[in-house]
Amino acid sequence: MSRLLVIGGSDSSGGAGVFADLKTCHDLGCEVSVAVTAVTAQSDRRHYHSHVLPKEALQSQLLALGDFGIDAVKIGMLPDLESIEVVRDFLLAHSFGQVVLDPVFSSSSGGSLSTEEGIASLNKLLFPHVGLITPNFSEARRLIKQVGLRSESQEAMAAACLELGSKAVLVKGGHCSGEECVDFLATDDGERCAFSRKRIPGGSKVRGTGCRLASAIACFQAKGLELKDSVGEACEYLAGYISGQMDCG
Ligand code: PLP
Repeated sequence: MSRLLVIGGSDSSGGAGVFADLKTCHDLGCEVSVAVTAVTAQSDRRHYHSHVLPKEALQSQLLALGDFGIDAVKIGMLPDLESIEVVRDFLLAHSFGQVVLDPVFSSSSGGSLSTEEGIASLNKLLFPHVGLITPNFSEARRLIKQVGLRSESQEAMAAACLELGSKAVLVKGGHCSGEECVDFLATDDGERCAFSRKRIPGGSKVRGTGCRLASAIACFQAKGLELKDSVGEACEYLAGYISGQMDCG
């Protein structure tokens, strides 16, 4: 069975973070190893606190992976510059084929999940070492704004993220408006692809969708699918998950 390594924060509500990643891996039939960067206390409506783990705690979880054969890596919440440096060093010491970074800045429950210093360092420290970044519309806007770029189109934002040093970027449109929900993929070798589907009314209120989409992409890559196919399959998986949540709620 393919194995994913998930690096990120826990969310005590279970709605997002590494617990959502674990559920996704389970749904998609992948084994999973986990390295926790922070323990957050959240309900669906409120972010109470983020307890950042000491850098040594993250380092030792990564060290303890030992001989596990990791087929793909998904990175979520990196709460500060130190955690970003630890993960950068870890990626440099290994040669993982597939690494997906979901840049997580804040939670819909209202909390900030990374420091300004951390966010500002992502492009230099991590983008060159990961295969795909998956910002949503507002995260992409923030990433490109810090280098003086401005745009409101997903295509132009994706191009700007490539300029920032990422190898491939998926600018997600789940929290935008309009009948169609579009996620736009761009790669540094010139591939451009828009994944479009009917927007599910109220779907943007479902928590942890960004975590699940990035984990699902990594799962499909771990199973051997190419990037574009992995994104397509992961979008299908997420649409099914959101519909299921709407039926429950
Ligand atoms: N909490 C943690 C620990 C996360 O990793 C993430 C997203 O990656 C979130 C919250 C954000 O979740 P939401 O979809 O509720 O904004």
